[in-house]
Amino acid sequence: MAKAYLGLGANLGEKQKHLTAAVSFLGERAGRILALSSFYASEPWGFESGNDFLNLALALETSFRPLDLLCLTQEIERDLGRRRETKGIYCDRVIDIDILLYEDLTLTLPRLILPHPLMHLRRFVLAPMVEIAPQMRHPLLKKNMQELLLAIND
Ligand code: AMP
Repeated sequence: MAKAYLGLGANLGEKQKHLTAAVSFLGERAGRILALSSFYASEPWGFESGNDFLNLALALETSFRPLDLLCLTQEIERDLGRRRETKGIYCDRVIDIDILLYEDLTLTLPRLILPHPLMHLRRFVLAPMVEIAPQMRHPLLKKNMQELLLAIND
């Protein structure tokens, strides 16, 4: 069994409902939810939109390997009605599921980068992570979630 941290976000429609459904699907299909943060409201990051985001983070105990977990999270995104957009373009989304950390693994594959390459720059990722795992260390930056959050000044 491995422990992974996921970041979820939604900025269209019934955001809380989509996030709650995604958490249920993850618990049914991906493993055991060990910790779940509160909901955090945030403004869109990297693109212009009138639709604010709602975000959360969770800890998952899983037997899926990283790429299989990614396939599963993308399947859940599709099941919740997300259409894939042009790669690299940020836009509104019904649900977004990012794998933030997977054990202490560092990985760079075309489809999966671990730790998530932008997690340390995003308050909407770090704030819920601090709630559920303040002492968890980023395996490359060697700082914990609390320290990373304090280092952001957006
Ligand atoms: P997104 O728009 O946030 O869903 O991400 C788009 C792409 O990021 C997907 O096609 C994934 O293959 C890729 N990706 C790379 N690293 C990660 C990660 N750690 N978690 C989720 N997606 C990732």
